[in-house]
Amino acid sequence: MAQNGTTENGLPQSPIPPPLPQPCKISEIKYTKIFINNEWHSSLKGKTFPTFNPATGVKICEIEEADKADIDKAVEAAKAAGKRGSSWRRMDVSSRGRLLHKLADLMERDRSLLATMETMDTGKPFLQSFFVDLDGSIKTLRYYAGWADKVHGKTMPVDDNFMCFTKHEPVGVCGAIIPWNFPLLMFVWKVAPALCCGNTVVIKPAEQTPLTALYTGALLKEAGFPPGVVNIVPGFGPTAGAAIASHMGIDKVAFTGSMEVGQLIKEAAAKSNLKRVTLELGGKNPCIVFADADLPLAVQEAQKGAFYNQGQCCTAASRVFVEESIYDDFLRLSIESAKKITVGDPMDPCTSHGPQIDRQQFDTILELVESGKKEGARLECGGYAVQDKALIIQPTIFSDVKDHMRLATEEIFGPVQCIMKFKSQEEVIERANNTHYGLAAAVFTRSVERAMRVSSELEAGTVWVNCYNALHAQAPFGGFKMSGNGRELGEYALAEYSEVKAITIKLNDQLTV
Ligand code: ADP
Repeated sequence: MAQNGTTENGLPQSPIPPPLPQPCKISEIKYTKIFINNEWHSSLKGKTFPTFNPATGVKICEIEEADKADIDKAVEAAKAAGKRGSSWRRMDVSSRGRLLHKLADLMERDRSLLATMETMDTGKPFLQSFFVDLDGSIKTLRYYAGWADKVHGKTMPVDDNFMCFTKHEPVGVCGAIIPWNFPLLMFVWKVAPALCCGNTVVIKPAEQTPLTALYTGALLKEAGFPPGVVNIVPGFGPTAGAAIASHMGIDKVAFTGSMEVGQLIKEAAAKSNLKRVTLELGGKNPCIVFADADLPLAVQEAQKGAFYNQGQCCTAASRVFVEESIYDDFLRLSIESAKKITVGDPMDPCTSHGPQIDRQQFDTILELVESGKKEGARLECGGYAVQDKALIIQPTIFSDVKDHMRLATEEIFGPVQCIMKFKSQEEVIERANNTHYGLAAAVFTRSVERAMRVSSELEAGTVWVNCYNALHAQAPFGGFKMSGNGRELGEYALAEYSEVKAITIKLNDQLTV
């Protein structure tokens, strides 16, 4: 029996859905400087750079620009904060976890503000910032808060004359270089496991999107992290980013971004101090829809995979392989669905598709659309700019895309879904794997056996079955082949941020009591 005010299964009755969160009014951006030692610093060269709202083209504010000398200063602070005997190094591990929880609490408190700022700086729809980016950031912080007192070694059974065990120690100063597509989430993906394992951090947000990272600097200080534990250095790739990659005082660098820059980072790391490198690079991700799939579900998820975040995801489902017998139905339903997407002002909670990040990306995407037309793919819908000034591209579908076309080989990083036909399982696996990328893949089928078999055959770090972009703090994320090295998230990421020390003690059996 349902009790008064509850449903049959005991949940509270709520006839009126809760009101949608709304963006905040931000009259002034408070944090625009370089964050070192829990203080705000001006650029040593006295330089600043602007950050823009991609939805309006209007400048939001000027940001102090970090260059090599500022990176040196940040590394000094991080080194001092993490040296033997420092308060951070001596802090008991449960307190480290408590600080990460506190940071998550503060993000929850300022969730609307952070989501509004993220939308201002990236153009992503406000509700996506609020629910996806903030949710993912908060959950990741709490996940690693829970790990802070569980990072431990093992005891090895060697011969009776020795005691042998391992300890997991911090790597040291961890550099991080992050992209503009998920600024806050990528900040947390790097910083949370690093801090959980006791490291200190120097992190560079992308030049297009520094705002939420800098705001989080203020939250880190408020949470009580000691000075120098996290240092935030806004600036450009070839200057500030390159200085991190080649710095002799940085022990590890974690990078998310393009494959080309990933190669430069690995090279700089090798030529300097052989620092550890983890890379999360691009993808040309196959999404395979078999004839026995739940068709409406596959259409919806494949489209989410292609258009989510305006297609600006390294996991974007940009090669959709559809089995011949359902190809026409899949295409028809996809076109109908794409035409219903609400495009417009990202601050409007009803909008689900906003602008691209900047003019350069916008032009690159439209140029790839033109290449698709020239190479003989069939433009089914979209393919044009909705509002040139606001950098919005109408969600676009191409059919009859062939494996050799640029649309099928190059990362598009825009709202373009490429639909391709296949005949057999063997054929589609071969084609799906025929790329030097290997980040993510998806399979849609009702057959458990097929799902198991195909997911085993696909060369990708993540395989989704009957879903897309289902990311969790608990599950490792990273690429096969040229999509990267190492893993973020989950227990696996802890290994990237720890050094393992083996301690072997000779037992003297002559000792008497
Ligand atoms: P995108 O092309 O999507 O902007 P990038 O790989 O160029 O991706 O940028 C991702 C991050 O890498 C940004 O923070 C950017 O500033 C940084 N970056 C760009 N070039 C370099 C470089 N030469 N060295 C280090 N970092 C770089």
